[in-house]
Amino acid sequence: PPPVLEVTGLSVHYGPRRRRRPALHGVSLSVAPAETVGVIGETGSGKSTLARAVLGLVSASAGTIVIDGEDVTAHRDRQWRTLRRRGVVQYVFQDPLRSLDPDLSIEDSLVEPLLVRGVARQEAVGRARALLDRVRLSHGLLARLPGELSGGQRQRVAVARALVTEPRLVILDEPVSALDSANRVQILEILKELGASGVSLIFISHDLGSVAGVADRIAVLYRGELVESGTARDVVGSPRHAYTRLLVGSAPTLRGARTDRARRAELRELLDA
Ligand code: ADP
Repeated sequence: PPPVLEVTGLSVHYGPRRRRRPALHGVSLSVAPAETVGVIGETGSGKSTLARAVLGLVSASAGTIVIDGEDVTAHRDRQWRTLRRRGVVQYVFQDPLRSLDPDLSIEDSLVEPLLVRGVARQEAVGRARALLDRVRLSHGLLARLPGELSGGQRQRVAVARALVTEPRLVILDEPVSALDSANRVQILEILKELGASGVSLIFISHDLGSVAGVADRIAVLYRGELVESGTARDVVGSPRHAYTRLLVGSAPTLRGARTDRARRAELRELLDA
């Protein structure tokens, strides 16, 4: 089957090309139907820029982006309106309050996207309830506002909200980074089930440990370039690039064990060697 997403030779510059290093440089990545691809890399490596480019929020200075068979690179605006209307690509941010309207009840945030697409109210409410089941939230939360939920509940609503249009691809940008470990585990389990249910996911994280158990394939970004990609098993089991080896080496103790400065020094040494 053709890929849901095919990114080829993608470069993105913020600001004038000559003066700035590109935020992304020559990145190629494809996502098959029902595949979960983890994108990892440290802060500033270009992960969010990749997400923004795929969502049509920043334009490519080189390369192509094909979504669901449609080349969206050239005629961005018109095609993006169509793709948005169809709800083909959805996203979940680190901060669920960015993905949810604070003034809409949980029920309304799940039901409205269906109503505007012509689904009858009763059917839409039924689907909203089924989605809450899928993210393991009680129907009792339907009347609440996002501000009245815990962080973990909110992120689960954001995942449900992303699924409501039956997207082919959901991009999750650091979906568990703001959560405590119990909520993190729960979201990771939900993501695993989603992957198994047939939707394609791009799971962006700086934390290899979170991604490794969920992703089928892992792509590693370093300074705007894709330095390694392969099956999760290969990338974790036999990393080829020095940066990936460093990530794998520090993953079990990623938080707390070493300071960022020490990790950076080690990284420089590895890459300069
Ligand atoms: P990540 O998500 O991996 O932390 P980003 O994609 O946010 O990385 O950033 C990649 C690079 O692009 C960084 O050097 C960052 O400073 C730069 N950058 C990101 N957003 C902007 C912006 N809106 N304007 C200018 N530079 C940006």
